[in-house]
Amino acid sequence: MRTKGIPFYEFKEGVYEIDEFDCASIFVIVGEKRALVLDTGTGIGDLRWVIENRITHKPYDVVITHNHGDHIGGAGFFDSVWIHEADADWSKLPVSPSLAFRRSYAELIAKREGKNYQYDLYRDIVEWPKEPEIKIMSDGQSFDLGGRNVTVYHCPGHTAGQCTVIDDKSRILFIADACNQNLLLDTEIGDTALDTARIAEKSLLRISGMKNLYDEIYNSHHDFRGFGSPLGKEVLPNAIKCLRTICDGTAEYIEVEDALSAGHEMKRAAVYDNVQISCMGGNF
Ligand SMILES: [Zn+2]
Repeated sequence: MRTKGIPFYEFKEGVYEIDEFDCASIFVIVGEKRALVLDTGTGIGDLRWVIENRITHKPYDVVITHNHGDHIGGAGFFDSVWIHEADADWSKLPVSPSLAFRRSYAELIAKREGKNYQYDLYRDIVEWPKEPEIKIMSDGQSFDLGGRNVTVYHCPGHTAGQCTVIDDKSRILFIADACNQNLLLDTEIGDTALDTARIAEKSLLRISGMKNLYDEIYNSHHDFRGFGSPLGKEVLPNAIKCLRTICDGTAEYIEVEDALSAGHEMKRAAVYDNVQISCMGGNF
C-alpha cells in the first residue's frame, strides 16, 4: 500500500502546503464550498487519500501549474486536471511524467537531501491507474471556492504554459516554478535562448505589477524557503533584474552543476545577487 504519511501544514487559514518529501510542494486552498489543489507532485504515496481524508471533504478542482514531471507526476490518480493549453500536450515533454522519470527524480532529490523518507521508491511510486481528463484553463480564469476566489495568470518562461495563481483571501501569489532562486528557462519557448529570457522577463514584470493583489509569494519547491514560509521578497525583483542583464548583454555568468543531471554536468548560469538563471538542457 502506498504511504499516507505525506507531511502537510496549514500555514494560513484554509491554505495547506503538502511537502512531497522535498521533491515538490503541493498546495490546497479550501473555501466555504469548494477546494482547489495546486499540482500533483511527483506522484509519491497516496496524495489523493491525504487530501480527501486529512485536509478536506469538500469537492475540489486540480490545477496543474505546468507540465513538468514533478508537478504532473501524480495527475493520473485524480479524475481530471486543469492545465494551460500551451502545456497540455504531454507527449512532447522536456521533463516527462513517466514512471522511470518519477522514480529517478525522487532518488536524485533523496540523494541531494541525504534523508530517509517515509516512502519506498517501488511501492510508493507506481503507474497511474488511468489518464486524467484534461481541462484547458486560460489566463484570467477564476475559481470561486466560496468566500475566496483563486485566479490563474499565464506566466511563460519556465515552460510555455506555466501558470501562477493568486488567492484573494490569503493574498498569496503561488508563483510555482515561474520564479525562485534557481530559475530554469525552457529555451524551446522562444526562437533563441535570449528570446526566451525576454518572454520570461515580460511575464515576471506583469506579475510583479500586480502587487496590489498579493502580500506574499510561495513557489513550488521549499528548498528556496522554509516549509510553510514565503519566498524572500527580494527574489522576484532580483530575477527580473537578472533577466534584464541577460537581455541587454551585461549578465555575469558562472559555471554551475546541473542539478537535474545525474552525471554532474556543468552549465552556464547568469547571476544577480541571490538569483541564478539558466536554461533547461542547454546554455545561454
Ligand atoms: Zn518545473
